[in-house]
Amino acid sequence: MSTTVAIIGRPNVGKSTLFNRLVGRRVALVSAEPGVTRDRREGTAHLFDLSFTVIDTAGLEEADGAALETRMRAQSERALAEADLALLLIDARAGVTPVDRHFADVVRRAKTPVVLVANKCEGAVGEAGRFEAFALGLGDPVAVSAEHALGLGDLRDAIAVHLADKGMYTEGETETETETETRDRAPSPAPLQLAIVGRPNVGKSTLVNRLLGEERVLTGPEVGITRDAIAVEWSYKDHAIRLIDTAGLRRKSRVSERLERLSTSDTLRAIRYAHVVVLVIDAAAPMEKQDLTIAAQAIEEGRGLVIAVNKWDVCTERARARAMIDDRLQRSLPQVRGIPVVTISALYGDKLERLLDAVIHLYDVWNRRVGTPALNRWLAAMTAAHPPPAPGGRRIKLRYMTQPKSRPPTFVIFCSKPGDLPDSYLRYLENGLREAFELPGTPLRLSLRKGDNPYAPKGRRKRKSG
Ligand code: GDP
Repeated sequence: MSTTVAIIGRPNVGKSTLFNRLVGRRVALVSAEPGVTRDRREGTAHLFDLSFTVIDTAGLEEADGAALETRMRAQSERALAEADLALLLIDARAGVTPVDRHFADVVRRAKTPVVLVANKCEGAVGEAGRFEAFALGLGDPVAVSAEHALGLGDLRDAIAVHLADKGMYTEGETETETETETRDRAPSPAPLQLAIVGRPNVGKSTLVNRLLGEERVLTGPEVGITRDAIAVEWSYKDHAIRLIDTAGLRRKSRVSERLERLSTSDTLRAIRYAHVVVLVIDAAAPMEKQDLTIAAQAIEEGRGLVIAVNKWDVCTERARARAMIDDRLQRSLPQVRGIPVVTISALYGDKLERLLDAVIHLYDVWNRRVGTPALNRWLAAMTAAHPPPAPGGRRIKLRYMTQPKSRPPTFVIFCSKPGDLPDSYLRYLENGLREAFELPGTPLRLSLRKGDNPYAPKGRRKRKSG
């Protein structure tokens, strides 16, 4: 039996983009004729190892006013009645609107299980909306960017949990004949997206050419990347790796081009595309200001960062160079402990395996999920060992903690008076988190929200806050 998943939400939250992302290009695209009102589209979605029927309820944007609302509601209800699971989409950049709440009610009333999806979460702009989404009371929102294909692993996990609840999917189950057929059509696991960045002349092109050798498989052009960038995919120790290969990297540089200034926007675009960023620096000029700026950008965007210290073959003062790098990283990026640093020679192809091993390990850490019970046990131990301050005699209470997303690991603590918790206490928690759950080298996001456990039964919450 095929599982049916309905995509629900107000106009413009990105339902069709998500539908297209799940179904792929096999389905003809939306009709561009003005005034054409589609009731809905159906297709077979492939999301890593999962396949299911997906219903897109978009297409009523052209209707107006009250008619629109009634029809959207009727159409959503119809889709929900047929669906095993609903994906309720909100636009994280716009935050939660009254119309979103209306759709949340429709879903709640239909009693169809729901996964709340905060779309348009690329960059940091969606942060606020994503946290607002907790208030809908529909569980942890899954942060995605349908357009940039981000967060799809998290979405897959959230859907798989629901299907498992309904006995429709078992993690790691043995294949039956029909499943084999489905699997054959499913795409291979999503590749690790890698960007290689750095100042001009540090050896980026040399490294890319070394890494790829002859095994270049050209794909793309990719969504969200410039037209002169292509993605190159290869595999390393069974991991699919997709590298953004920009014209700047491939160009066999002429002298004039070597002197070209670092193109900030290209670097930033590559960083945003990537899951893991390799920052190439020159051992002869280790971690200069420009290097640190790029490193900070990668961290700010929440990407995994690996430092490749290149031209190690000609480095005469190795101990000094290492010390300088460690010192500068610690001073400039104290918030991320354990950033991997690998010394390489791109020219001679030396230590490239170690570099890629570091990339893959960091990617695993970046994807890590910590269960809510473990987090809350940990939080209780941390606050017992070192209680939060009590400004004005009332101790700040840290009540509940959860990890709403990974990539990078993102945690929320619900507490009283979040504004009063000193930074030093946050750092204590962050460093503790890294140690307890083995999260070195990845950016972490830890935010505070005012409130109680959002999932506690209603009665208990009222008593507490009243
Ligand atoms: P990009 O601008 O960062 O792409 O740098 P290139 O890859 O064009 O390299 C700049 C120069 O550094 C070239 O002359 C390379 O041959 C040289 N180079 C790159 N990697 C190494 C290395 O590991 N060791 C040495 N000695 N030279 C290197």
